[in-house]
Amino acid sequence: MTKILEKRVVKLKCPHCKKEVNSAFVCKMDSVIGIRYAFLCDNCQKLIGISSENDHTKLHTFQTI
Ligand SMILES: [Zn+2]
Repeated sequence: MTKILEKRVVKLKCPHCKKEVNSAFVCKMDSVIGIRYAFLCDNCQKLIGISSENDHTKLHTFQTI
């Protein structure tokens, strides 16, 4: 099950649309390895990264500006 939790203010560069993203959608996902939080680009709605915590600074796949 995936459910959008909230819109989060971030300061990141999306690897898909190459734009600076000022907000991202956070989705909570229940998986077999536990709860994961997916962060989606506000501009292109593609997945930027997944974290085990509801904290975008923990994402290794994010390219911070
Ligand atoms: Zn994007």
